[in-house]
Order: sequence, then C-alpha cells, then structure tokens
Amino acid sequence: MRIIFIGPPGAGKGTQSQRLVEHLGIPHLSTGDMLRQAVADRTPTGVLAEPYMDAGQLVPDEIILQLMDERMRKGDCGRGALFDGFPRTLRQAEALDRMLEKMFGQALDAALEMNVDDAEIIRRLSGRRRTDDRPAVIAERLKSYWHETRPLLEYYRQRGVLRVIDGIGTQDQVFDRIKAALASRPGSPSTP
Ligand code: AMP
Repeated sequence: MRIIFIGPPGAGKGTQSQRLVEHLGIPHLSTGDMLRQAVADRTPTGVLAEPYMDAGQLVPDEIILQLMDERMRKGDCGRGALFDGFPRTLRQAEALDRMLEKMFGQALDAALEMNVDDAEIIRRLSGRRRTDDRPAVIAERLKSYWHETRPLLEYYRQRGVLRVIDGIGTQDQVFDRIKAALASRPGSPSTP
C-alpha cells in the first residue's frame, strides 16, 4: 500500500505513522526525520535546509524532491510505503505521482488527512520541546500548512483517494479510525 499522511504540525501524524508502518510492514518515509538527520550530520542538504526549518518555512521543492528520489531508490518500497510530511506542495504531489508511476507503475492508494483544529494544535505544540516549536515558529508552520499544503486535499479528493480522519481522541481511538478508513471506500465516515 502506498499511503500519505497530511495534517498540520502537531496533528499526531508522527505517532500514528509509526503505528501504521508496524501494522502494515512497510517503510516509513518522513521528510521531517530525514531533514533533521541531515542537519545533525551537517550534510550539504542539511546545511541548506536548516534555516528554512528554523523559520518554520517549507524547504524548497528541489531539495525535498532530490532527498525523496534518493530515498525511494533504496529498493525497500516495492511493497509500498507510508509518506509522512510529504508531499506538502502541489509540485511535490505531482512529482510523487510521477515517481510512483515510473518506479513501480503504481498510483497512490490513500491520502489520509488528520483533522485537528488550530486551538488544539497550538495547545499540543506548546508542550513539545523541539526547536521549531516556539510560538512564532508554530504560527509560521501553521501558515505554510494552510497556504501550501491544504490545497493538496482537493488534489487528492479529485483523485478519489482522500480519507478524512478525526484526529481528536486517544491514540488508540485515532488508530482504529485510520484502520477503518483504509478498509473502507473514500468518502465514507471514518469514525467507528
Ligand atoms: P515535520 O517534522 O514534518 O513537521 O517537518 C519539520 C520541518 O521540515 C518543516 O517545518 C519544514 O521546514 C521541513 N519539511 C519537512 N518536510 C517537508 C516537505 N515535504 N516540504 C518542505 N519542507 C519540509
């Protein structure tokens, strides 16, 4: 299965992605994790990406697409993959469609939208300890989400693969909704 997770920062994508890849036995491709590793290793990509990440802005598409292209060539994505935090722009979404078609002759199976309102996001992020979780940076990251990433929902809705997940509740409740949504047809209610 080829699945992407879309949702604002703090929606719980990371935690739920981890559970889902264990459940499905597919690799977890998180551009945020890859970028943080590149920054820690001081690679050329990390050095280029760091100022954008610190400012809560999206890293330019060319850098992200290069990173993802290299990752997908590792050869472990044949049975599928979970893309977490990617794509975040329309250009990335179109590039992912082309990569999947070219490398595997396959399309995306599902785009999961984690739906959590802004007030709850700010409350959750304020409790985290990441350097890009300061209030001004949180506001910037939410802005990128609303302006650049939310238009992807329409892109995936039109392709019939969007499933909306209510992200409020316990981790188990949200995970059950995700499994139900993946088992059901797009557009049907996700709450068990
Ligand atoms: P995340 O852990 O997914 O919230 O990502 C942390 C930061 O990495 C984001 O605020 C962006 O600066 C950058 N980033 C991660 N994934 C992407 C992406 N697909 N496109 C652009 N920037 C990204």
